[in-house]
Amino acid sequence: MKFDVLIIGAGLAGTNLAHTLLAKGKSVVLFDTCSLPKASDAAAGIINPITGKRLVKTWLADSLFPYAAQFYQALEGTLNDTFYHQHSILRAIPKGSALSERFAKRAKDPAFMPYLRGGHWFPPALVQGNPHTPAFEIHHGGHLNISRMLKQSHELFRTKGILNQSEITHDEIEIKSNEVHLRGYCASHLIFCEGAHSAKNPFFDWLPFEPAKGELLDLSIPGLALAQALYQGPKWLLPLGDGLFRLGATYAHDDASSAPTAQGATALLGDLAKMLMPEAFAAIEITKHRAGIRPTTQDRQPFIGRHPDYPNLHIFGGFGSKGASLSPFLAAHFYAHLFAKEPLLPSIDCSRYAPG
Ligand SMILES: Cc1cc2nc3c(=O)[nH]c(=O)nc-3n(C[C@H](O)[C@H](O)[C@H](O)COP(=O)(O)OP(=O)(O)OC[C@H]3O[C@@H](n4cnc5c(N)ncnc54)[C@H](O)[C@@H]3O)c2cc1C
Repeated sequence: MKFDVLIIGAGLAGTNLAHTLLAKGKSVVLFDTCSLPKASDAAAGIINPITGKRLVKTWLADSLFPYAAQFYQALEGTLNDTFYHQHSILRAIPKGSALSERFAKRAKDPAFMPYLRGGHWFPPALVQGNPHTPAFEIHHGGHLNISRMLKQSHELFRTKGILNQSEITHDEIEIKSNEVHLRGYCASHLIFCEGAHSAKNPFFDWLPFEPAKGELLDLSIPGLALAQALYQGPKWLLPLGDGLFRLGATYAHDDASSAPTAQGATALLGDLAKMLMPEAFAAIEITKHRAGIRPTTQDRQPFIGRHPDYPNLHIFGGFGSKGASLSPFLAAHFYAHLFAKEPLLPSIDCSRYAPG
């Protein structure tokens, strides 16, 4: 039997792409290994349209965020579980910070208006701050429980007999004129969704990945009531329910290992100490320390598209810090490119870096 698509890598990118293709009636087989680290296992899953110190609106936000909401809600129906949570994100504006001026400017810009609402902050008990601190809310965001979504998705793929749990070495791939062969499977297309591991893929090693390590802590903070994600200073705190929170994240280009480090934990806890009242900080308990490598790219845009010499080989990756927001919409866009010959958006087309 000939399949439409073989997918290498079933992290967030490969899994969302597989759901998209299956929903369009395409036949898919996935290969994924547990022996390589997955960024998706470390990720917080925050979906945030307005980010950073400069309050940048995510590229294509007006399309991406409604699409992601609809995609994950439909998937919750298919998988009969809950893993997508819509909520606003609160950002406190520290006294004298440039964020104040930036927010004032953005709040008058019609492109930002649907996303931002200013006001004053009433910090919950146990969080430092006072009711006179200016703050703003970011709307149309939330978070995705990525581990839960992947667990349920992989269960479905296993039930369908389309998930192979093993690592592919690239020299096993046999390319013929209009098909690809791998481990006894034959398909019209093979798509690499290997996350940061794509930097070592001999077919796509000309793409300028700039992988960025990140670390997070899962904590219990007894008594803290927080209804939405809170950005205060350089770090954020995401409520997970039942008194549990996720604190993140560090960002470093100089450590290629996916192992959690003592320095990472110290940096995170140093910032948490500035966020919480001393009695709350003294009572925290760390339940998990996570680390992973974000598949970040030189120009901060994904790498999607066809290999310049092997038209049956493709890449779908480079989602950096925004896999949860970007991958559903771009999976649909890539499907339309592969099967309906729609042009790819030039800013994500991997051919922008093609050698020669
Ligand atoms: C600390 C941290 C915090 C983050 N927070 C957020 C956040 O809040 N919101 C957000 O949207 N994003 C966040 N991200 C980014 C997010 O993790 C990524 O954008 C996304 O998970 C990338 O998914 P991926 O499928 O491309 O890569 P991965 O999740 O790394 O998956 C790649 C998969 O491919 C498999 N694989 C690779 N090569 C092979 C091979 N040869 N054979 C078989 N299998 C192979 C690997 O085993 C892995 O399972 C964060 C990342 C980190 C590290």
